[in-house]
This record gives sequence, structure tokens and C-alpha cells, in this order.
Amino acid sequence: DTAVSLSNVRKTYRIGEPVHALDGVSLEVPQGSYTAIMGPSGSGKSTLMNLVGCLDTPTEGTVVVGGREVGALGDRERTRLRGTEVGFVFQTFNLMPRLNAVENVALPQLFQNVGRSERRERARALLERVGLADRADHQPNELSGGQRQRVALARALVNDPAIVLADEPSGNLDTDTEADILDLFDEFHGGGTTMLVVTHERHVAERADRIVHLLDGKIERIEDLEGSSESR
Ligand code: ADP
Ligand code: ADP
Repeated sequence: DTAVSLSNVRKTYRIGEPVHALDGVSLEVPQGSYTAIMGPSGSGKSTLMNLVGCLDTPTEGTVVVGGREVGALGDRERTRLRGTEVGFVFQTFNLMPRLNAVENVALPQLFQNVGRSERRERARALLERVGLADRADHQPNELSGGQRQRVALARALVNDPAIVLADEPSGNLDTDTEADILDLFDEFHGGGTTMLVVTHERHVAERADRIVHLLDGKIERIEDLEGSSESR
């Protein structure tokens, strides 16, 4: 099964001279796979993540997430799809400062048809899985960077999404803490979660099954880390 599929995707920004941020990108992300995206600044990584994250629609071509074509949906439907099919992990964590860890993790379920006690129970279970059961009542400013990122990872997983998108997830962490977070990614990936990670760090990318190298809005090559490198 395919978690995400891009076919001949072009994304053009028209401010003055048109810029093709993505220019003919086709990519299949199989369910349960682990893909890293690398490429220099301006190569289209953010644009790709925004499309897969249902934050934006392509200018041409199709993006299919969780079986739905993103470009064919209205804003409300796209927001719903994002809420259920995509979990986000950011370099800056993006936690709500006034909410404690359980409340932060439970947040994405607010827009689902899930009762309050079930939301809390599920949030606590995920905090346990990331090793933070004893910090459930702490607010983000009472947690270390690595603990905040673990809260963010638990939140990303709370709706059982088709795919977790991580944008430089360890960019703000020291080496040991980074390793802990990447180990958790491995663990959830081992449990069947589809991972898509943007990174500038080769050693972070090497946790994945394959590395997609972007250059000037195109896929320059796909590096299969379990076999030999293939080009396109
Ligand atoms: P965005 O995703 O917002 O377009 P970039 O992809 O350019 O931004 O950069 C994401 C983060 O990585 C930023 O914190 C930026 O400072 C850093 N960064 C950008 N380019 C490089 C690079 N070549 N090597 C290391 N870090 C980089
Ligand atoms: P990356 O994340 O790899 O740094 P981006 O996807 O952010 O690359 O950008 C790809 C290209 O699209 C760049 O030339 C960038 O300047 C342009 N771009 C990105 N977002 C916008 C926007 N909202 N408006 C105009 N141009 C944009």
C-alpha cells in the first residue's frame, strides 16, 4: 500500500519571475517506509513537505495522501485530512506553552470524534511509549529539549496517522538527545509508522531506508540504503 503518492508534481510561485519550487516530481512513499529528504537550501524540501502535509496544493500533477487527492479537496476537507493522516514534528517542537505534556499530546484529537477521557488515556499511553510518563503534568518550559521533542513525537502519533513528517527534528538537540529521538523514530517505524524526514545531516538521513536527493525542484537521485544507488 502507498501512504503518499506524488505524480508529476509542479509547484510554481508567481511573484515576479515564476519559480518552479518543484518541477516534475514523482515519488511513491510506501506504507511503513522510512524516507529521508536531503538537498541544498532552495531545492524544494519545504514545498514538498507542505504538499505532503496537506498545507498546500500543487500547481500541476497530483498529490495523494491516505487515498485522497489533496488538490481536489476544499480547505476544510484538507484540514481534516491533515489532522487525521499526517503527524508533524518540527525542529522548534511547536508545543503550546500553557498546556502540559498530556494536554499537548491530546490536542490533535480535539477535532476527532473522541471523548475527553479517551483522549487523555491515549495521550498518556503515548507519553509512556516515549518514556515520559513521569512528566505528563509538566509544561514545555519545565522540560528539556529532548523531552519536548518526545512530547512532539507523541503528539504527532496520537491520531495514528498514515505518515509522520519531521522537518529537521534533531536540529536543536545535542548528540545524545538526538540519538534518543532517532531511536524512537526507529522504534515507531518498526511498529509500522511511515516516516518522512527532512534533514541536512547525513547521519540522520542514514537512519532511513532511502534518501531522496532534491536539486532545483527535481529529484536528482534516490539512494537506496539497503541496496545499491539508483538514479533517475
Ligand atoms: P526552510 O526549510 O525553512 O526553507 P532551510 O531548508 O533552508 O529552511 O533550512 C532549514 C534549517 O537548516 C535552517 O535552520 C537553516 O539554517 C539550516 N540550514 C539551511 N541550509 C543548511 C546547510 N546547507 N547546512 C546546514 N544547515 C542548513
Ligand atoms: P528548501 O526547503 O529546500 O530550502 P523551498 O521549498 O523552501 O526549498 O523553496 C524552493 C524554491 O521556491 C526557492 O527558490 C524558494 O525561494 C521558492 N519559494 C518557496 N516558497 C515560496 C513562496 N511562498 N513564494 C515564492 N517563492 C517561494
